[in-house]
Amino acid sequence: MFNPPEDLKEVIDIVVKHTVWRKKECINLIASENVMSPLAMVLYLNDMMHRYAEGKPFKRFYQGLKYVDELEVKAQKIMGELLNTEYVELRPISGTIANATVFKAMANYGDKAVVVPVQAGAHVSHTRYGTLGALGIEQVEMPFSVEEWNIDVDGAVKLIEEVKPRLVILGGSLYIFPHPVKEIAEAAHSVGAKLMYDAAHVLGLIVGKAWKNPLDEGADILTSSTHKTFPGPQGGLIATRTKEDYKKVGKVVFPMFVSNHHLHRLAATAVAGLEMKYFGRDYASQILRNAKAFAEALAAEGFRVVAENKGYTNSHQVIVDVKGHGGGAKNAQLLEEANIIVNKNMLPWDRPEDIKNPSGLRLGVQEVTRWGMKEDEMRQIAEFMRMVVIDGKDPAEVRKKVIEFRKEFTKIHYGFDIPREEEERLFKIMLHPYEVF
Ligand SMILES: *Cc1c(COP(=O)(O)O)cnc(C)c1O
Repeated sequence: MFNPPEDLKEVIDIVVKHTVWRKKECINLIASENVMSPLAMVLYLNDMMHRYAEGKPFKRFYQGLKYVDELEVKAQKIMGELLNTEYVELRPISGTIANATVFKAMANYGDKAVVVPVQAGAHVSHTRYGTLGALGIEQVEMPFSVEEWNIDVDGAVKLIEEVKPRLVILGGSLYIFPHPVKEIAEAAHSVGAKLMYDAAHVLGLIVGKAWKNPLDEGADILTSSTHKTFPGPQGGLIATRTKEDYKKVGKVVFPMFVSNHHLHRLAATAVAGLEMKYFGRDYASQILRNAKAFAEALAAEGFRVVAENKGYTNSHQVIVDVKGHGGGAKNAQLLEEANIIVNKNMLPWDRPEDIKNPSGLRLGVQEVTRWGMKEDEMRQIAEFMRMVVIDGKDPAEVRKKVIEFRKEFTKIHYGFDIPREEEERLFKIMLHPYEVF
């Protein structure tokens, strides 16, 4: 029997409790999260996590990297095929670092960037409080139309022509309808600006062909996380249209923002990329159907779902305004007690002082889709949410129902069906190669 000291036992217990709770007993609706397949996870445990690989593949500063080089090139190729470009940079260790890299490569201290307003969904890294501000790049916000729940195209084009920024940034974190890439690209290029599209949230939808590829629509550079709708390990990615931009970006990643690039994740990114190559279309189209069904069900249960006039959503996200039920903070907390995990979110009509208790809840269906849930399950989840938020039922009672409901969904879909023995063989190689070979 393994009888660990008390402090070690505590560490193990915490990890086990978290994993059982979040992976087995919760309905996870955090829009920026996902789960990897068992195959991606088992390959993620590889020895590359212990290594350094400064520089580009086959031009490294250290030895011992022949397989890392091969894998990195392969992963770039897989992602490049999905994004229809030869130029993919996988070394940024997160979406934020990918953004920092592009900001630094494409603009200088004191330059201007035209961005989506924060209340309309821009990520903190696009703001004066985040990466853009840290690099001394001035942020100018585009007009946003709540009626259209999108950028006001005419206003944005006019602003870009006036401001003549170095950089225009599209994409966001609260994101239900695609931004107008074509029109904004034309405006950006007419004043010599680069258009960067931040696809962190929607990469899975883009590579699953449910959303248009911004690089095909006129964006010069695409940045992303690799763990939101794209179901890979936590990490970042930059894809460019031209070799010239790719080179510029590469010179900034290392030595400026990354030393080791968490090499073990390249294996899992490659597996997730192949899952998207083979199953991405089914996955992405089911996400859109689920989000639509979820929004309709929530509205039918009495929730105020935003953008009703536009059909609620065309992404993985559904946004509800729960101000009338005590606000986002209180309800996110109550839902957590019922094992339904969501985040509170500012909405375009919230004031800065509402940040602690904003009006909104942001809900994402990508992870539950990956667990195999379809439209019927969306209706069931909407009902659970009504019990907590609208009916004021005891969350502990609802939690019992959630745990029961969740028992049916134990397999990750839209991935390769690997037999358990193969999974165990690979797991053993990762942990104890000397016992296998
Ligand atoms: C999540 C997110 C990021 C940051 O990604 P990390 O990988 O968490 O650093 C950047 N941009 C947008 C739009 C995001 O939603």
